[in-house]
Amino acid sequence: MLFYHIILIGIKSLKNMKPSKLTISIKNGLIDSINQSEVTEIIIDGASNRFVSAYAIPGIVDAHAHIIGLGENLNTIRLEKAKSKDELIQLVKEIDVKDGWITGRGWNEESWGNKDLHRLDLDAISSERPIFLVRVDGHAAWVNSKALELSEINKYTANPNGGTIQIDAEGNPTGLLIDNAIELVRDNIPKASNELIKKYVLDACYECLRNGITEVHDMDVHLDHLKVYKELDNDNLLPIRLVQYIRGFDGEYKRLQSHPYSGNNLQIIGLKFYADGALGSRGALMIDKYNDADTYGLELISTDELYEQASEGCDNGWDIAVHAIGDKANRNVLDVYQRLRSDGYENILRIEHSQLVNPDDIKRFSDLNVFASVQPIHCTSDKNMAIKRLGENYNFAYPWKTLHKTGAKLIAGSDFPIESHNPFFGIDAFVNRRAINEEITWQKEETLSLEDALNSYCYTPHLATGNSNSGSLELGKRADITIIDNELRQSNTIRNTKVIATITNGKLTKHL
Ligand SMILES: [Zn+2]
Repeated sequence: MLFYHIILIGIKSLKNMKPSKLTISIKNGLIDSINQSEVTEIIIDGASNRFVSAYAIPGIVDAHAHIIGLGENLNTIRLEKAKSKDELIQLVKEIDVKDGWITGRGWNEESWGNKDLHRLDLDAISSERPIFLVRVDGHAAWVNSKALELSEINKYTANPNGGTIQIDAEGNPTGLLIDNAIELVRDNIPKASNELIKKYVLDACYECLRNGITEVHDMDVHLDHLKVYKELDNDNLLPIRLVQYIRGFDGEYKRLQSHPYSGNNLQIIGLKFYADGALGSRGALMIDKYNDADTYGLELISTDELYEQASEGCDNGWDIAVHAIGDKANRNVLDVYQRLRSDGYENILRIEHSQLVNPDDIKRFSDLNVFASVQPIHCTSDKNMAIKRLGENYNFAYPWKTLHKTGAKLIAGSDFPIESHNPFFGIDAFVNRRAINEEITWQKEETLSLEDALNSYCYTPHLATGNSNSGSLELGKRADITIIDNELRQSNTIRNTKVIATITNGKLTKHL
């Protein structure tokens, strides 16, 4: 009887993030009614869709990712499955491209019997068309003679800074290019046409939709691509909401997109800057020297310069997002944000990655109302590397719970395509803080509860974009809903969660 009562009255909101069986009625893209039920049912303008063994949560947001990067990846031949040089050559032969460059990515010769890679191997596939194959880690490329010829690389070409053109005993290039030498060839690959960029954007958006993602905060958006995004949005073709942060560091945006923009499913609201590099390459800027090298990392912008650029951006209505990984970089950005706040700026301020934060700086996130944009999967992927770089005693890495406890607003993303775009891998990392092949949770005190993890994926990201009509299952809110097959009660099953359907703006797409 009590159950019936609940159904009759309905509930106004589901602010707790617990995956639930619900009947939700949607009208004109908004949640019109919401009730506890025995089977999840979504009624859109009167038409019912029932899902057995299914649970609803608010639509998932990826708060830091790269849409075109994912689209490129989806459209690039993946070579990971090649178990030998012969298999790789066979795969490349099957690449179906009409003309122009043959490109692929993902080869890894580690486990191959024959690790001797040469341009002549690829010349046997084609000597007429340039071939460009990037290694799985992105730090080497294997090219054929035609690619070298078009890039004017020969025995007289000097190695670029930070790169190596591998040569044989006679001094001729072998076709293997390391690090910055890769760019000598990549720069000659014709830029993707607008039509192809559109395909990348749409393929990536639909891939997100399949993974239950209803909104992406698209970072470092190239100004050349804004036109394509706007065209897609004007034609109402974007199936998920994109909130964009364009490249702010070179000032080019002032010429091409001088003010924020809001369309149907596209918002261009932020400027992105870089305070330091990455931890793996020891570019993250640290307060103390690295454990495994005689360096503090790289300061990519001074605090004065960042203040100048960020305050000018704020004056023109932009939100500010700054990449900071090292503890000194995080401190520098917080110093700049403190100046902005004391000068009266109320713009939304975020730190992308917030990866290593000194205890003295933790509380400043909430004091200054700065969003900590974190990618939990970086922790589980990079933990062992981080320990090498920082030493066993470093305790300020990926401090999610500590940030959360002090009132910082944590928003979560994947940084795809660098990491998987499957949000359940990230939620798993938040809750379990261990890699797939590991038994033991690393620094258990920094794990988040499932509810806090879901909050960072579903609710809090909307506070960072001013979209207060999204992020919870409530009457009158935009109907962005993810339907999953898992109640998520067993933390060891989070990774295996399947998305059954995604609803964005009241439009339902079934996946299973
Ligand atoms: Zn990124």
